[in-house]
Amino acid sequence: MSTTLYQQIQQFYDASSGLWEQIWGEHMHHGYYGPNGTYKVDRRQAQIDLIEELLRWAGVESAENILDVGCGIGGSSLYLAEKFDARATGITLSPVQAARATTRAQEANLGAQSQFLVADAQATPFADNSFDLVWSLESGEHMPDKAKFLQECYRVLKPGGKLIMVTWCHRPTDVVPLSVDEQKHLQEIYQVYCLPYVISLPEYEAIARQLSLQHLRTADWSTAVAPFWDVVIDSAITPQAIWGLLSSGWTTIQGALALGLMRRGYERGLIRFGLLCGNK
Ligand code: SAH
Repeated sequence: MSTTLYQQIQQFYDASSGLWEQIWGEHMHHGYYGPNGTYKVDRRQAQIDLIEELLRWAGVESAENILDVGCGIGGSSLYLAEKFDARATGITLSPVQAARATTRAQEANLGAQSQFLVADAQATPFADNSFDLVWSLESGEHMPDKAKFLQECYRVLKPGGKLIMVTWCHRPTDVVPLSVDEQKHLQEIYQVYCLPYVISLPEYEAIARQLSLQHLRTADWSTAVAPFWDVVIDSAITPQAIWGLLSSGWTTIQGALALGLMRRGYERGLIRFGLLCGNK
């Protein structure tokens, strides 16, 4: 991984995670608003609903040893550890996030069954066949080598174990290639959110096929999650959020100013919310 991207991601999350937690809570991912995006639910509940809907979609009813790839401050890791009475390991590039996740685990009495490490998802310190659930919620978009990322998820998965990967994508390009304007729009998103690039869901599926994942399935949930950005934009305009933004520095401010980029990305069908699951 290129050092500069690695450092940018680290600094972005080191600087912005405290504010995000204060304003929006421990889950740093989209919410779920029903198949057509019409459910009127509280934002935080929508984020928990997303986790539950993903488990249902992927057919996960139990887990013993979970890896949360790109774990943020451990929102999913701890939720899943508690729900399944499982062990959870989370990895992130941000030392601030890893430390905060560790504290949150202790506060929730989950310290003994969870651990949080700073590690690169493309080269993790874990042995082959370690986990029965590998969960990656909105971190794939940050990975410079999508194939290496998925290979690594596959390597650490136990035979029979399940991978759930959910990530920002751009629309499929097999029929109509991306226009210059769409490419420019994507570049702006990449810049503010520290993404090297995103790919389409069919491209992820092609990579996953090479790994011989069994029962491979994909789905596009863009419509179900797009309303999230309206809610986040509304709540970013409170005095508390604005003050927090001013105190946490320029990259965080840029991230906030760019919320509209994501909203417009969904509106024009350019940004897509892609799901992939399969068994080893
Ligand atoms: N899944 C979490 C956080 C999503 S934010 C949640 O839903 O709350 C994206 C996360 O991906 C951050 O924690 C960031 O540190 C992590 N990340 C990005 N690139 C990574 C990499 N190469 N290796 C490990 N983690 C990475």
